[in-house]
Amino acid sequence: MTGAAGGEAFRPDPRLPGGPLPGAWQRCRETLPLVAPARRRQLRILVVGTGLAGASAAATLAEQGYQVRVITYHDSPRRAHSVAAQGGINAARNYAGDGDSVERLFQDTIRGGDFRAREAGCYRLAELSGAIIDQCVAQGVPFAREYGGTLSTRSFGGTLVSRTFYARGQTGQQLLYGACQALMRQVAAGRVELLPRRELLELVTDDGVARGAICRNLVSGALETHTAHAVLLASGGYSNVFHLSTNAVKSNASAIWRAHRQGAWFANPCFTQIHPTCIPSGDPAQSKLTLMSESLRNDGRVWVPAAAADSRPAAAIPEAERDYFLERQYPRFGNMVPRDVASRRARERCLEGHGVGPGGRSVYLDLGEAIARDGRAAIEARYGNLLEMYGRITGDDPTRTPMRIYPAPHYTMGGLWVDYHLMSNLPGLFVLGEANFSEHGANRLGASALMQGLADGYFIAPATVAAWLAGQPQPDLAPDHPACREARARASARIAALRRPPAAGVAPVTADSLHRELGLLMIEACGISRRADRLRAAGAELERLRELFRERLHVPDHGCGLDPELEKALRLEDFLDLAGLMLADALAREESCGAHFREEHQTAEGEARRDDARFAHIAAWEHGGEAPPRRHEEPLTFVASRPDRRNYR
Ligand SMILES: Cc1cc2nc3c(=O)[nH]c(=O)nc-3n(C[C@H](O)[C@H](O)[C@H](O)COP(=O)(O)OP(=O)(O)OC[C@H]3O[C@@H](n4cnc5c(N)ncnc54)[C@H](O)[C@@H]3O)c2cc1C
Repeated sequence: MTGAAGGEAFRPDPRLPGGPLPGAWQRCRETLPLVAPARRRQLRILVVGTGLAGASAAATLAEQGYQVRVITYHDSPRRAHSVAAQGGINAARNYAGDGDSVERLFQDTIRGGDFRAREAGCYRLAELSGAIIDQCVAQGVPFAREYGGTLSTRSFGGTLVSRTFYARGQTGQQLLYGACQALMRQVAAGRVELLPRRELLELVTDDGVARGAICRNLVSGALETHTAHAVLLASGGYSNVFHLSTNAVKSNASAIWRAHRQGAWFANPCFTQIHPTCIPSGDPAQSKLTLMSESLRNDGRVWVPAAAADSRPAAAIPEAERDYFLERQYPRFGNMVPRDVASRRARERCLEGHGVGPGGRSVYLDLGEAIARDGRAAIEARYGNLLEMYGRITGDDPTRTPMRIYPAPHYTMGGLWVDYHLMSNLPGLFVLGEANFSEHGANRLGASALMQGLADGYFIAPATVAAWLAGQPQPDLAPDHPACREARARASARIAALRRPPAAGVAPVTADSLHRELGLLMIEACGISRRADRLRAAGAELERLRELFRERLHVPDHGCGLDPELEKALRLEDFLDLAGLMLADALAREESCGAHFREEHQTAEGEARRDDARFAHIAAWEHGGEAPPRRHEEPLTFVASRPDRRNYR
């Protein structure tokens, strides 16, 4: 199916609104069917995940009166990975009086994503952004304030205005506490049943409609069946396919991958974001990387020694012998270029021998000038916990010596395909937050993920899920329905296969060691920079890893429920399959756009060269079973923006 080149039209319908973009969401919402309050009590919704997207959706739907069941693999909903978000959340409020507006946030988002997102979705996000701030302030989220009481803002990459609201370097934590407190109110009211320490292993579908999930109770080991009239996946992103990433160690792709295997299309899997400012890996046995928020680039200047292989300490390198390469290459945006650009340039400098630290695999992020200008106390007040975190991990004081940073996998713009209503192509399956592919195109702008997750959870899903439920006549499935039994059998068979001992004489491998190998393979072939020959070679190497997984990975059964090795193996199995789809997607997209940089497609200045004639579309992949996956194209049209070449110079 090829929408773009004169083939069949793209199906399913993305249900994009007609008419002008301003007000389109409001007009759409006003046409959505409603459910009578008394009927809501009879309808069950299953929400997977208690990050910002899941917690906000569950709380809001329960507030409306639906019966909501929430599952999370954490012991507490507040441990969801959203708690780690540091820098802030965008909103077009123009509190800084620097010319911001909904239109500008829309334009920045669509351009930041290199024109690979839907205009209607980006516009809705910009329109909802202000309401998110109001909602969170009403919940008591302690955003930073000016002396006079108004909310403070700061800048993030890819923008020329100050629109990022923040709570020191702990914005995600504070937002999540707000959402979880709303969730717990509903738990106390009996409208939300919260089931922690459960992991989704299979989606239940009946006749192509999502009807529930099979979960493993991580304490008892039992498989449980949860059925519902609508299923919402808010299970986060899949950056841990690279093994080392800024995500929490347990963040995984299983919920969306299992849904994909049941028929949900996966959109733009190769659009993954490498964040430029992370603490470099210092140990081969390390299990995760730590982010240094992009907000630090407001005050920090990025540089390397101008001379290659200069091993003098930073303080011994005079100003004239430093290369502030982002400021030199991008005078207009300087250190605030978007993440894809900053990451690529840092890597390039390191490859050319200008990198600093062990192996020359890092660049400096220097707060020296800002401290001299504003004073140490002001900088510590702005970034306190980030500086402390850096000090604890590296042993260096970033207020006295520049930080060393290097790009690391961070965020995944790809995810399950959803329409404007956040419904996947499987009726009844909604996907929210980082788990879906929407609104960030080929590169997410800093501080826009929290905005999207909360727009999905507080405002969009509560309207569109209700609309689905209004027209949903089927009764809830009984747990022994054949569709449930079949899904449970699939989950049991997977676990049984992992319990099977390897053949005699075969050396066993662990999930950790295989995951590390997978990460190295993916970062080299499908990381900051990609090339057809390397992608193909990685495909062959991936087959070898899959075979090792099948033949040599053995998870013994100790007869008790708690089984972290089984959890790792199940997640790794899904990562191995997803990696194959990412390589296929990166190979098929023969252009450079945003974070997807194909070396064969660049300008003389080393910038991404898009091919709008062939690739102005969303690639939505259908699982092929034993056959290769099928690629579908949803064409993108631009009427309110002009898809010219991104230029941050
Ligand atoms: C270090 C860091 C800093 C960041 N800083 C910012 C920032 O400043 N601003 C910004 O906009 N964005 C930031 N981001 C991105 C942003 O935090 C995330 O995109 C966002 O929080 C994701 O929220 P979510 O609700 O979609 O998923 P998550 O918060 O990841 O929650 C996923 C939930 O799903 C559950 N789950 C997952 N799989 C399963 C399963 N199989 N079964 C059961 N439960 C499951 C988990 O238990 C969890 O509750 C940052 C990201 C990182 C890594």
